[in-house]
Amino acid sequence: SAAPTSGLTARGLVRRFGGIAAVDGVDLDVPPGRITALVGPNGAGKSTLFDCLSGVARPDAGRVLLAGRDVTRLPDHARARLGLARTFQQIAVFPGLTVGENTRLGAEQGRGGTVRGLLGLPAPGAPAAREATDRALRLFGLDAVRDWSADRLPTGALRLLELARALAASPRVLLLDEPAAGLDLAQTARLGSVLRALAAEGVALLLVEHDVELVARLADTVCVMARGRVLLNGPTAEVLADPRVAGAWGEA
Ligand code: ADP
Ligand code: MG
Repeated sequence: SAAPTSGLTARGLVRRFGGIAAVDGVDLDVPPGRITALVGPNGAGKSTLFDCLSGVARPDAGRVLLAGRDVTRLPDHARARLGLARTFQQIAVFPGLTVGENTRLGAEQGRGGTVRGLLGLPAPGAPAAREATDRALRLFGLDAVRDWSADRLPTGALRLLELARALAASPRVLLLDEPAAGLDLAQTARLGSVLRALAAEGVALLLVEHDVELVARLADTVCVMARGRVLLNGPTAEVLADPRVAGAWGEA
């Protein structure tokens, strides 16, 4: 499709490491109100694509559009202000801060945030940020541990904290890199229902996920990457039934 959506759009993205194109001419639409799953074997380029989409890495070629606006040259924090939030494959929370403070940082980095808020000072946007923080903690069942130091949390709860922080930013586009890694069954079920609720609110979601069952249950669309390229992209049932997918899914 040629027309950019009001979610996130990639056109002709290329990202090279030395002579290797980790992302090699990717076109992708992440539309609002939908869950798009990005799958493919290890080394396919999924995390590198996420880095280009979120602004952690600058692509060597191609464009990224956020709600129709070209953000290719904007750094990650500027994209965050425009409504883009992401989580990382490697969990990244601040261990010296509490669960509540970590989540609040997400709110301050997002659309409702302020520089004063980031510095821990009272800010005009504070009620909105507080509300977004409370909601994210509640949705992921973290309100009971909000005053705990983040380093006291076990892996699954840390993963939920990272998700809560991304959600607190009130994103219009949410990129999740292996969000269910380290979650138990109950936590995975909670994750699924939160993501569906966000999609119903109009958020555009893109997730890298290895769990086929979860992808089948959750995703509206599946994009299969292999060797830096999009191999297949379409409705979940169609893509999962395609014989080429078994090979592309790799060690999932
Ligand atoms: P995936 O997330 O699908 O497993 P990655 O995006 O992590 O794939 O990696 C894609 C390719 O790019 C791999 O061959 C990987 O080794 C390479 N790569 C990723 N990051 C770097 C980097 N910082 N420097 C050099 N090569 C990298
Ligand atoms: Mg990866």
